[in-house]
Amino acid sequence: MNTTYIGFGSNLGDSVAIFNTAIEHLKAHGQVRVSQLYSSPPMGPQDQPDYFNAVVELITSLSPLALLDQLQALEIEAGRVRLRHWGERTLDLDLLLYADQVIHHERLIVPHVGVLLRDFVLLPLLDLNPNLIVHGHQLAMLDVVKSSTLKPVLAADWAVHAPASST
Ligand code: ATP
Ligand code: MG
Ligand code: MG
Repeated sequence: MNTTYIGFGSNLGDSVAIFNTAIEHLKAHGQVRVSQLYSSPPMGPQDQPDYFNAVVELITSLSPLALLDQLQALEIEAGRVRLRHWGERTLDLDLLLYADQVIHHERLIVPHVGVLLRDFVLLPLLDLNPNLIVHGHQLAMLDVVKSSTLKPVLAADWAVHAPASST
């Protein structure tokens, strides 16, 4: 079994419902824990809505590429259309970490390129595992974490998931 972390993003449609549907599907592939829900301003084009973000831990026997296939199928199922780079989307699922593997494949780079740079990835990751180390960096100690102003969002339908800290 491999401990993996998947970054969720959405700024089109009913983002929380879209996340919940994808999480239900991921449960078919292993044991799931869910971070708190966050909201963040867009990267890239600024003329788009703020994002919802979360991270899911999935303990799975799927190989990295098989997991990527599943994530991309879930993006399509959520109606994702690629309009522009870093543009608005119903669902973005990025494979952030796969055990302690370093992967350089034409379809898959792990750890994900944004993982050390983006507070909307780091804060929910740290909800799930405060001790994570990536490329030799203790995530909790990164400046981008310490200076982040992101706060968890309270959403009634997010409460269907047990908080990470109590599982
Ligand atoms: P970013 O990757 O900077 O967050 P994005 O999520 O908007 O941007 P996508 O359009 O979702 O980018 O993905 C583009 C390509 O990235 C996909 O075709 C996929 O094969 C590739 N990719 C490489 N590494 C990963 C990874 N770790 N997780 C998901 N996709 C990846
Ligand atoms: Mg992304
Ligand atoms: Mg992506």
